Amino acid sequence: MNTIELKNVSKIYNNKVTAMDNVSLKLSEGEFIAVMGQSGSGKSTLLQIAGLLDSCTSGEVVINGENVSKLDKNKLADVRMKSLGFVFQAFHLNSHLKVYENIMVPMLINNEFKNKAEMKQKAEELTATVGLSHRIDHYPSELSGGEQQRVAIARALANNPDFILADEPTGNLDSKNELMIFEELKKLTGSGKGVLVVSHNDAVMDFTDRVCIMKDGVLEEK
Ligand code: ADP
Repeated sequence: MNTIELKNVSKIYNNKVTAMDNVSLKLSEGEFIAVMGQSGSGKSTLLQIAGLLDSCTSGEVVINGENVSKLDKNKLADVRMKSLGFVFQAFHLNSHLKVYENIMVPMLINNEFKNKAEMKQKAEELTATVGLSHRIDHYPSELSGGEQQRVAIARALANNPDFILADEPTGNLDSKNELMIFEELKKLTGSGKGVLVVSHNDAVMDFTDRVCIMKDGVLEEK
């Protein structure tokens, strides 16, 4: 069973700010967990540590049974590329690339793709998955916010990760689009992906299996 486990993880910035205080959390395949809490409570820090974008001060991060806390930079990048996909509040699409080209970007560092044609075919499939085939040749500036975030979700799926980690994915969207994005993320759990969303949007609770609350760096099950 694919899992991400945080075991007694603490993160202290600059020897001063305790952003995570002995946090333990397990995300399994097919599971949708939301971490909620006020601004400054440590949600983004949790997501970055679970996503191997930052290291913890103490504790362990275990991904699919492997303790990744001690891996070197290259091995970490490899686990990130193969196992994790990221979605951010600000979409972070490349404005100079068309929809399918944006989705291909993570594939460029994955040597499992033989050539560009294979990557493009996969990008077309993923574009269809998020319901945007009719926009495949468009640039991000020609899309609505909700559509841009759906492209970002497709891009997060590029290398068929086990987990999707999303940091305030609806922070820049109106309420109709936010429901669509949560729905899209929930759909992924049906194909076995584990989804971890950090949000302060109450609407997420209608879609998740579990909700955890972060308060001053301490995580509690709701
Ligand atoms: P949230 O995502 O819930 O808004 P964060 O994880 O961004 O919370 O921040 C948690 C705490 O850690 C805050 O007090 C914030 O100021 C602090 N913090 C976050 N990132 C850094 C950093 N790079 N350096 C120092 N302090 C940080």
